[in-house]
Amino acid sequence: MTQTAIVTGAARGIGAAVAKRLASDGLAVAVIDLDESACKAVVEEIEGAGGRALGIGADVSDEEAVQAAVERVAEELGAPTVLVNNAGVIRDNMLFRMTADDWDAVMNVHLRGSFLMSRAAQSYMTKAGGGRIVNLSSTSALGNRGQANYSAAKAGLQGFTKTLAIELGKFGVTVNAIAPGFIETEMTASTAERVGVPFEEFKAAAAAQIPVARTGKPDDIAHAVSFFVSEGAGFVSGQVLYVAGGPRA
Ligand code: NAP
Repeated sequence: MTQTAIVTGAARGIGAAVAKRLASDGLAVAVIDLDESACKAVVEEIEGAGGRALGIGADVSDEEAVQAAVERVAEELGAPTVLVNNAGVIRDNMLFRMTADDWDAVMNVHLRGSFLMSRAAQSYMTKAGGGRIVNLSSTSALGNRGQANYSAAKAGLQGFTKTLAIELGKFGVTVNAIAPGFIETEMTASTAERVGVPFEEFKAAAAAQIPVARTGKPDDIAHAVSFFVSEGAGFVSGQVLYVAGGPRA
């Protein structure tokens, strides 16, 4: 039976690569992002390659929208047994300049969003007798200047991952986290823009600090997600995999 996956924040960047990879692994994929029309290109690419996909507009931090989105996935694609909590935002600032809104925005998308999505999806997984949840953490969980909000959220996701692994293991559901280092996406491009450095220069400076001497691509993360989601990874749970070209970026 075809499995159904949900990938949040999948209109672009890492989420889009993950959605396409899971589709090529044979899963039907729900592409969730804030704006439904933004999901169209990824859905069309998956369908063009012979896969099944459904684009849904939903804010992962909105309880009702999450419930409705997950129910729609179950009705139109099939009961979701794979969830990738990837949607994310940054609101970087040094602590003394960080507003409460900067703090709340980041907590809401990463932590509240992953909580709401996981709670909604687990009921289908436990009923199905198995499932996979993969949460996107970050090397910033280890601390990163200007990211008090983001690093707290990404470290929080690691604790969330380990607790869900303990609670859901007996239902055959594994829960793992991937902590990417520098990945070339609009998120890192926007950071380069904010600090006033051309993206190519910004990437080169990052690569100089990375043991494998290059920055990451969204497909590097999609490959790791594919492993955690695979049937053979059923004994791997509660883990945090740093995918950063070295022990940490
Ligand atoms: P990205 O290019 O900015 O893509 C993030 C996507 O999430 C966007 O399509 C965005 O939609 C969507 N999104 C934001 N808020 C949402 C919400 N409330 N509900 C639904 N969708 C929402 O980011 P990325 O670089 O691919 O990052 C993906 C994940 O990896 C994030 O969790 C990020 O923190 C993590 N990560 C990234 C890096 C990196 O170097 N890029 C490193 C470590 C971890 P809009 O465009 O409409 O805002």
